[in-house]
Amino acid sequence: MQNLPTTTSTWQRLKNKEISCSEALKLLVDEQGTVNQALLDRDVSCRFLRHFPDKSSLPPAIPLLLWRGCYYLGSPVTLSPEAIANLAERTGSEIKIIPITDKSYRAWFHTQNLNLDRISSVPLVNPITGEQEQEDISETTTLYLSKAADQIDRIKTLLSGALRNRASDIHLEPMPDGLRVRYRIDGVLREITTLPGDLSRRVVVALKVMSKMDISENRRPQDGRIGEKYASGEHGEMGMDMRVSTLPCVNGEKAVIRLLPRQNPFSNIENLGFSKETLPVYKTWLQQPQGMIILTGPTGSGKTSTLYTSLQTVAKEHVNVVTVEDPVEYVLPAITQTQVHEAAGMTFAAGLRAILRQDPDIIMVGEIRDNETAETAVRAALTGHLVFTTLHTNDAVGAIPRLKDIGPDPGLLSDALLGIVAQRLVRRVCLHCAEPYTPSEADLKVLGLGGQQIQPGTWRRGRGCKACFNSGYLGREALVELLDIDDTVREIIYEGTMTHLHRYLGEINFASFRVAAIEKVTTGLTTVEEVLRVVPRSALYSKSSSQDLTAKLRPLRVSETRN
Ligand SMILES: [Zn+2]
Repeated sequence: MQNLPTTTSTWQRLKNKEISCSEALKLLVDEQGTVNQALLDRDVSCRFLRHFPDKSSLPPAIPLLLWRGCYYLGSPVTLSPEAIANLAERTGSEIKIIPITDKSYRAWFHTQNLNLDRISSVPLVNPITGEQEQEDISETTTLYLSKAADQIDRIKTLLSGALRNRASDIHLEPMPDGLRVRYRIDGVLREITTLPGDLSRRVVVALKVMSKMDISENRRPQDGRIGEKYASGEHGEMGMDMRVSTLPCVNGEKAVIRLLPRQNPFSNIENLGFSKETLPVYKTWLQQPQGMIILTGPTGSGKTSTLYTSLQTVAKEHVNVVTVEDPVEYVLPAITQTQVHEAAGMTFAAGLRAILRQDPDIIMVGEIRDNETAETAVRAALTGHLVFTTLHTNDAVGAIPRLKDIGPDPGLLSDALLGIVAQRLVRRVCLHCAEPYTPSEADLKVLGLGGQQIQPGTWRRGRGCKACFNSGYLGREALVELLDIDDTVREIIYEGTMTHLHRYLGEINFASFRVAAIEKVTTGLTTVEEVLRVVPRSALYSKSSSQDLTAKLRPLRVSETRN
């Protein structure tokens, strides 16, 4: 799996007369032109490169061997006789060129310029074309790890690889055959590499040291934090929070590193995933002097991003913005954030009461779970405060009975509410390998569309490529359901039933998950499979969203009864 640092270089073996020059070349470059990087000798590179203080003047070439006054260079391009003569003159040696693959050259080039001591999110650039490289993460990570001298280097290599590829978490799992490394990218875990068994324990211990955990304790879970800087191409050095947690398991201790870049990623409300129709409505809520905005969705639905971006949008110089959260996930500028601490008596309710004594304009209550918090938040929203909060419900409509259950007065609640947003994160179709396809009847049925509503060529899916790990998806955005509390909804909340509400929403064709899914799928942004992966079927087919479709669905159903 990994090349041990003790491997004797081919050049050494040639010098020791263990092998001939042609045998050495065969070992270094196989018939396909792939270079065995592990067998190269640093010394040959150093000697060769010494002749070229200005490396940019060099053509793409790997110094493979220096033998009897001749440099054997591997190159992915055909060098002109002048270029070869120039190399010969500069080095005072004969030059022989061995054709190698483009990929081998790029791998060598990147390891030449590798600084393992530094965490970096700078993407790899193809040295031949100057374009951003679509790296094969497993391959580069395994190669870089083989160059690492110690455990700290290995951990930094894994952190850099994760940052370059937009990973949010790194999972290190002891397995019988070694330490399995996986990255979570766009919400999905990807297998990257497996470190050899003898390193497994040592890497985890080094990580515990870095995150200031008790290394003598390995029978109970621990939490820690590493604050490190990392290099990013655009902004120089950036701060990063790395939350590390360990969990004792059968083969040792599993460690997970959560990567939270400290730069503020919550600046642009336009990029969250709201549609043309829902974004203006949401923005009007943010401009209200008072009222309550509720965001719902399970953990990992992106509601924290929407919440923080909204707070950043409203946090102007002349307003006092205060939050009570559990936990504070990101530290935001221009906002006072407080952390729930149950043991110390700092509950959501207590925090909220304390905040209200400090003349806030905008309040964010991390979550409403109990009657007292609900009552206080509703009253605050009716007395000149803009209040943001979250609930765990399947869809936007579900927030209404949930809040009523928790117990604030329905009259006050209906007056306080501005609107409810439910959301999920859907993966975007990978732009590098997207291709159009014709939806099947089953696809149409999921969205409740008739065949005549399809514009040919607009539905897309990813074929799968290196950039997206063959998944066909790259990046994510929110799928948003937005319930605007108009006068009718207000009245129904006060004295109506859920049936009334569903009937009314069906009539006005409100911005349901299904409407949002239709927009994103029919414009090729995401796929039906992806929508079904993240949106509960009950939310997709709720009474209010299927009302207007019955007519369109009926003919389809008839034709599909035999499926
Ligand atoms: Zn792709």
